[in-house]
Amino acid sequence: MKIELLNTPADIQELRFEEEIRPRRMEDFTGQQRLTDNLKVFIAAARMRGDALDHVLLSGPPGLGKTTLAHIIAAEMGGSLKATSGPMLDKAGNLAGILTSLQQGDVLFIDEIHRMPAAVEEYLYSAMEDFRIDIMLDSGPSARAVQLKIEPFTLVGATTRSGMLSSPLRARFGISSRFDYYDPQLLETIILRSSGILGIGIERDAAMEIAGRSRGTPRIANRLLRRARDFAQVDGMESIGRGTAMKTLDSLEIDEEGLDDMDKKIMDAVVNRFGGGPVGVASLAVSVGEEQDTIEEVYEPYLIQAGYLSRTPRGRVATPRAQLRFSDGSSSISGTLFDEARFD
Ligand code: ADP
Repeated sequence: MKIELLNTPADIQELRFEEEIRPRRMEDFTGQQRLTDNLKVFIAAARMRGDALDHVLLSGPPGLGKTTLAHIIAAEMGGSLKATSGPMLDKAGNLAGILTSLQQGDVLFIDEIHRMPAAVEEYLYSAMEDFRIDIMLDSGPSARAVQLKIEPFTLVGATTRSGMLSSPLRARFGISSRFDYYDPQLLETIILRSSGILGIGIERDAAMEIAGRSRGTPRIANRLLRRARDFAQVDGMESIGRGTAMKTLDSLEIDEEGLDDMDKKIMDAVVNRFGGGPVGVASLAVSVGEEQDTIEEVYEPYLIQAGYLSRTPRGRVATPRAQLRFSDGSSSISGTLFDEARFD
């Protein structure tokens, strides 16, 4: 089992850094043009009517800006944001406490909304639809339900796995948008903006190099920028040049396409150990020593987008492009353990 160390000094530093460079207004939010253009219209219309904005579902891989956009929506609506996450809402009572504390126009942000327990989810329905909740007072024979009105609010749900959302919940979002990976040009703009905020000089070709290897993900681009700053500092450079950027990326074993060590391990397993697939994600996870959820939410979407992996009903399959790049010539399935697990 993987042990997650949360809130280590490094985690806290990372969170602080993310907070510092998080865009606060719509005009600082780069990319996702269609989504933000639409949202601007819906926000303006809701404000004109004096209503809360309709509930918004944001889906897509981690690090693409879902949390950032939720904050921006709250700011543009003139409300404040209360943040929680699906796994944290383990009891309906927790949710009731949050809902009753909301003011008109506030945003309730639920990250990883697909991980919310079913009982809590049902509780959310009447809150989303009619801005009311039913709470049970007492238990046993004297138990009775009381209805509480809550202030009109906007629920912004974020999910890396929109397929895992139940249809009744999905149907209650008036606005639903999927985030796409960012083009390198957009990531370059984000890197240049972040370096300005952090007060680090970076040359254009260095920013381009980092942007091209950031897996289409702003969070990764910003993280690589920070690592490049470390290398520049230790080498006594005033600003990050292309040489420093290359040195950083090479040291972190990030290749030209942004693939890291785990991506390569996954592709090596599918292509060589499982003979190109199909292989079930559970077997793949055991084989590379990574959590199944992390493979599905973080690695797989990018490997699919990069054209190396495809999902079939029988499991994951390597594309011909992957065979060309990752085959070591063995292409045999080693051991009966994996034979058995191939079709899970
Ligand atoms: P998610 O909620 O999708 O996991 P976040 O909103 O936390 O992603 O974004 C991660 C980091 O990437 C943030 O700190 C933010 O600075 C940066 N970021 C994300 N999207 C953008 C964007 N469109 N423009 C500029 N920076 C962005």
